[in-house]
Amino acid sequence: MVLGYRRWIRENLLREEPGPILSESILQRIWFEQLVRDPLITLEGESIRLLHPGIWNHRPGPDFLQASFSSADGRVLTGDMELHRHSSDWGAHKHSSNPAYKNVLLHVFWQADPGLIGSFPAGIRQVALEQQLSAPLTELISLFHSSPAEVLSGEKPGQCHPALLALPPEKLKEILEEAGWHRLRQRRSLAQARVGSFGFEQAVWIALAEGLGFSENREPFSSLARAVPIRKVLQIPDPLERNAVLYGVAGLLSDPTHSRVSEYALPLLRELWARWWRVREEWAPYILPGSGWRLGATRPNNSPYRRLAALACLSYPFVWQSLMESVRRGDSACFLKMVGSVSDEFWDHHAGWDGRVLSSSSKLIGADRAMALLFQVVAPLADLTELELGRRMESWPAGGDAGLLRSASVRLLGVPFPPSDVRTHLAREGLLQIYKDFCRAKPCAQCSMPEFLKSR
Ligand code: SF4
Repeated sequence: MVLGYRRWIRENLLREEPGPILSESILQRIWFEQLVRDPLITLEGESIRLLHPGIWNHRPGPDFLQASFSSADGRVLTGDMELHRHSSDWGAHKHSSNPAYKNVLLHVFWQADPGLIGSFPAGIRQVALEQQLSAPLTELISLFHSSPAEVLSGEKPGQCHPALLALPPEKLKEILEEAGWHRLRQRRSLAQARVGSFGFEQAVWIALAEGLGFSENREPFSSLARAVPIRKVLQIPDPLERNAVLYGVAGLLSDPTHSRVSEYALPLLRELWARWWRVREEWAPYILPGSGWRLGATRPNNSPYRRLAALACLSYPFVWQSLMESVRRGDSACFLKMVGSVSDEFWDHHAGWDGRVLSSSSKLIGADRAMALLFQVVAPLADLTELELGRRMESWPAGGDAGLLRSASVRLLGVPFPPSDVRTHLAREGLLQIYKDFCRAKPCAQCSMPEFLKSR
């Protein structure tokens, strides 16, 4: 018997137990595009209507943030949504004990595990999608099946990518750089407000800390820079005590007698702990809750422990003075050289106190992060006119294609990195801004970007 392709897919790839081809990323895409029935029926039999799928969260935490739906009694509810292949994955991933999931109102999965029905946290509606798609699953799978680049970036090309890529390079560059200027002006306004409130030096310190925090730990780093202002850091003459204060106030210093510490980390941790214990009382009101850090959310090389070591290195008084001057002058070469050369005997090889040893020695601030810091620290705070800054930025490196930039590029341009003739520092930031303003906010069907492109 000759099977049609469609039937073959149905019978071979879509078993009752969904195989790897029905990945969570395909389910996420289905949800994002709202290709589900209206209304949806929960496991308890309630009819709910999906009003907005939520903001697709490509970071750790629930899959979609601030989804909204109306309940059977007509109330509109807004909360996070978590998606799995199996209903039991909620328990397997220990979401109930993870505070990042405390705002989840919807748990959506492909199939419900029969024995587990009814055993979920109260207040979270459970929805099995298996019988509730608005199009045949086979077609959705072939539509959303991902290429390796897309898997890597967690993204799919969006609706406007053919139009964007079809633009002449100079036009595409112009649009991306416009968005880049928008991003830069926002940052300069914020930086100026901070300079007015806290002074130039502290504004640099906060911007640097936030940049080192990446998006995952931006807030705790920002809080730390406020709790331990650079003025106070510079007043501490002993480098080990400076580090002890930074790690101690961050809540990232463990008592070596009560925590799991590797033999390599023990000597350093003991020294820091002894110093911290002497000054702890003084800093007690400022200590950050350790729970604010997303320790498992980053690759070991980018762990907050290592980023904090980088911040501590840059706060050495003579280093700090030169760094500040390079920011003030908008001297990108000097800034990149300084942040790219920070090094620490222990943290160059380790990712935490618990013995996580890096496979090879790794720079505390890699080239990509250093280039991102140019835009986060130097561009907003340089004492230059916009015209002069724009002129200088033309020679700033465009940076690599890792992380969010790859996602933005796949989504907006359909390729894992922007074409070489539009790769400028400002165009890169513009691409990220468009991705943030449009792609992470709404599905393509509700997006005004195609209209905007027509108008251009
Ligand atoms: S969300 Fe908007 S900007 Fe993003 S790919 Fe879709 S149409 Fe384009």
